[in-house]
Formats: sequence, C-alpha cells, structure tokens
Amino acid sequence: MKVEQYREEYASFNEGFLREFYLHYSGQKPALDLGPIYERHRGLFSLESIAGLRQHLSETSEHFETTRASLRHLLTFAINNFLEAQVESLTEQVSGQEASATVEWDGRVMTFQETAIAVANQADRALRNDLFQTRASMIRASNDLRAERLSKLHEASRSIGPIESPIDSAAAPRTDNSAGAGRQQDAELHREAQFSGRNYASLYQDLLGLDFQQIERRCRELLARTEAVYVASLSEALRQDVGIRLDQARRSDAVYFLHHSPHGSRFPAQGLLGVYRATMGGLGIKTETQGNILIDDEPRPRKNPRAFCAPIRIPCEIRLVIRPFGGQSDYLALLHEAGHAQHYGWTSSSLPAEFKYTGDAALTETYAFLFNHLPGDPAWLSAMLGFQDNADFVKATMLAKLVTVRRYAAKFIYELGLHSNGDLENAPSLYADLQTDATKFKTGEAEFLFDLDDGFYSAGYLRAWALEVQLREHIKSRFGWNWWASRKAGNFLKEIWETGERFTADEMASMIGIGPITFDCLIDEFINLLN
Ligand SMILES: [Zn+2]
Repeated sequence: MKVEQYREEYASFNEGFLREFYLHYSGQKPALDLGPIYERHRGLFSLESIAGLRQHLSETSEHFETTRASLRHLLTFAINNFLEAQVESLTEQVSGQEASATVEWDGRVMTFQETAIAVANQADRALRNDLFQTRASMIRASNDLRAERLSKLHEASRSIGPIESPIDSAAAPRTDNSAGAGRQQDAELHREAQFSGRNYASLYQDLLGLDFQQIERRCRELLARTEAVYVASLSEALRQDVGIRLDQARRSDAVYFLHHSPHGSRFPAQGLLGVYRATMGGLGIKTETQGNILIDDEPRPRKNPRAFCAPIRIPCEIRLVIRPFGGQSDYLALLHEAGHAQHYGWTSSSLPAEFKYTGDAALTETYAFLFNHLPGDPAWLSAMLGFQDNADFVKATMLAKLVTVRRYAAKFIYELGLHSNGDLENAPSLYADLQTDATKFKTGEAEFLFDLDDGFYSAGYLRAWALEVQLREHIKSRFGWNWWASRKAGNFLKEIWETGERFTADEMASMIGIGPITFDCLIDEFINLLN
C-alpha cells in the first residue's frame, strides 16, 4: 500500500463528503446522498487498508513522531469508516424511520423533529409530558434497529486486531501527573484484566490513546463534587422558572427549562451576525474580508435550524451556516460553530490532509467552547450586547452548562459500560438510573440507544470542557480579563490554530504549558460561580 496515494484519496473523500453534507443541511439539496461517495472510495475503509496502515505504523521508528502521528490519524479515519460501512444500511433505516415518522397530537400532524421543538416550547407541564411520551414512543419504534446496529458495530470492532496505543509508548505525554514506570505497568495490567477480550471500548481506548478508566473516575468525581451546588441551584431555578420541586422534575421539564429563558429578547436574530463580526474583530480577525470562511445566512425552507460549520476544503473553503431565529441558544450555537470555523480557517494549508480533517475531537471542541462560553462572561455581555445587569443571567448560563456537563459525565460512564460488555438487556435501566442520578430530572429508558454517539464522542466533549477552562484562564492571565478585545490574544489563537489537528488536546495543553488536562478547574468554576 502506498501512503501517498491513500492520503490523496482520503482528501478527496473528505471534500466530497463535507460538500454533500453542507449542501443537504443548508437546504440546497433535498437528499443526503452519501452512498455514491462511500462507494467510490470503498477501498479506503477495507480491512486490507487498515492492515496496510497498521503495518506502516509498526515499521516506523519512534524517532519519526510526525510520521507515526500521521499514520495514526489515517488509521483512525479508516477504522471509524470501516465500522460505519458495516452498519450503513441500518443507519439509513433508522434515519429513514425518523425522517418519515409523523404523529398526530392535539389535532396537528408533527414530524419527529417537530416534536422536539414542540416539547421545548410547551409551557403547560401536563401537555409537555404527554408530548414527550409520544416522542418517546416514536423512539422506541426504532430501538430494535438501533440494537441490531450496535450489536453489529460491536461485532465488527472485534474483527479489527489490536491497535498499539500511543499511551503505551513514549510518543505521547500521559495525562496523569506522575506516571512512574510501576504505575504505568499497573495501569496496563488493569486494562488487560478489564479488556481481556477485545471489544469496542478497548478498540477506541487504544485508537484515541486515552485511559477510559481514568476518565470514568474523573466523571464520578465531577458528579460528586458538584452535587451539592447543583442540587441547591437547580432546586431554586426550577421553583422560580418552572414552578416545580426538584423531586417532581422529569426529562421533559429539562428540555423546556434549558430552552426557555426570560432574557431571550436580549439576543435578537438581526444582531447575531454583527456580534460574531464584532467579537472576531476584537481579536483582530476581519471577518468581512475573510474569503475562506463563507457565511451562509440565506433563508431556505429546508435549511437546518441549528448553526453548523462545514470545513469542506481546509483552510480555503469553510462554510459557516446560520439561520437566525434569535434567542440565546442561537447565539451560543453560532459562537460555538465560529470557534470551529476559525480553527479550520487558520489551519496551515501546508499540513498533510490527515492533520486537517482527522484528529482528537477534544481539540477543536475546546476552541468551540472558548467562544461558546462568551455569553457567560459578564464583560462580554455588557460590551457586545449592552446587557449590563447580567448577574442572574450569567448564573443561569452556568447552571445550564452544569446540567449538560453532568449529563455527559453520566453518558460517558454509561457508554463505557455498554461498549465494554455489550449488555443490551441491562442497558435501558443503567441508562435511566445514571441519567436520573446525574441530572436529577427523572429520565426514562426509551432513549438508551437514541441518546448515544459512536466512537466515544462524549469523552471528547468532557475533555474539551475541562481544557477550555484551563485555556481561558491562561489567555486571561496573559492578555487580560477582556481577552476577546485583544489582538495579541487573537495572534496567540491563530498560532495554535495553525497546527490544525496535528496534536491531541493533551499534547496541545502540554505545549502551551497548561497541561495536563484536569477536571479540577472546571469543577471549581462551577462551585465558585454557582455558590
Ligand atoms: Zn462542536
């Protein structure tokens, strides 16, 4: 196998895939036609290609760190898509069922997507719960297909031989403070015992170079340490905003609670683009003349309501797609996607394609969360939106974030269990118990396979939330508390963005001098701001 040839085809697959994705979700093409793109590039995801890349990796000396990193990126891509290819028809069947399902509720015919929006907007609690249950039954209708898909994914993951994990070698820094030789050996023995058979979890643990047991311990610690402040803040907020006690709260209330804000009018639809431009302008980024990041704000009937970023050709053709409706969630989504867009837009064009399109999800999510956090920054709210009296709003924003972070901590613990043992029988109750304990919103079993992403994406989000606080504190200490108005801070960000997806989030944290990634800063911030 020729790596150079593989790389070229890989780049053209990604471009084709992302262009199709963009055209469909921006409402310019009715069908998401990925089949022909996968068909054309089938060879990229074959077991032979995986074996070829693995062989190149094992033959490359540890001294060639960049070559090894590049092979690992390609291998990650090949394995992700090999697995997806094994379940392609089931993925299509599930999304087909979701897309075509309708329900008649309260004299109105609703699509599955519309039920989500309706739950979030329904102020009447009984009606809201009724509609939520209707939606849950739509989810249950395709759970057998989801279960079949998951079993197949697990089976396929066992057909891939062991991947040498970068945390076994010296190539990548360990995330622990003091990983003495003895301790490392212990950790390896522990892992061997835990994953005596190969499974989906052990595959991803090696592929991502992460210690999942360590992340699980940190998730449990986050849940324990933020428990008191969470219960107190949420009880108060639910009493005031929803008129219920904490022990009455259900998942349907969570959807409404997170969506509904008394400050919505502070975030008008027509101000969205201006706030984006002003925020980037403060960092010295002139978005009006940024020819490589194209903003698509055209209203099209079939356009996805949520903002998204499609990095079609990195760095020269990045699409930032918005459909402004107004409200704080619109602003949060745009700022998040803007972080991704700027990261890809400033990525060096001279990097090989695998350092542009494939990487550690936690890295790009950290940049996205950095901007995502701005509506939680009192000075930014005041400067950008003229929103001075914002103390209550900032607290509410932090509480909403804690609901989400605790939800993801429970998600990760659940996923690690589910993907290690594949026990689908106990999964529904495990899911419901973990979610109910973590969020305090009583959660049913229906979503146990619906509320689940492939490839442990939850670990990427959790590490990114943690690293974002560390990065933000670092930027503030160097460039001032209103860092978003500093050109020097902008230059610093451009410098790290230039490296694209070359490094993992842990490596980037070490290089900046703020590593290792720890959940402590994130936990402390919640406790300090919500107390
Ligand atoms: Zn993101």
